[in-house]
Amino acid sequence: MSKIQSLVKKYLPQSWSQALESESRTWVVECSHCCAETSVWEMGGIRYKASGNPMMAIRCSRCGQVSTGQLHQRPTPENANA
Ligand SMILES: [Zn+2]
Repeated sequence: MSKIQSLVKKYLPQSWSQALESESRTWVVECSHCCAETSVWEMGGIRYKASGNPMMAIRCSRCGQVSTGQLHQRPTPENANA
């Protein structure tokens, strides 16, 4: 867990930190080498109540290669009908 993530867990009410974590996990970048998805949370980041699909450089959680991809949100029960 990254520093920012442990700070959030330490200082925010549990319901907030859980919402932050679960939303951060829905934002993913697809690896251009192996097509695995790595979430913002797995990268040590946080993304909450955000919109837009910026480009991000990530280190793939599966193949370990650095890849640049577009951040996008996985369908979730909350946004599936949006
Ligand atoms: Zn990969």
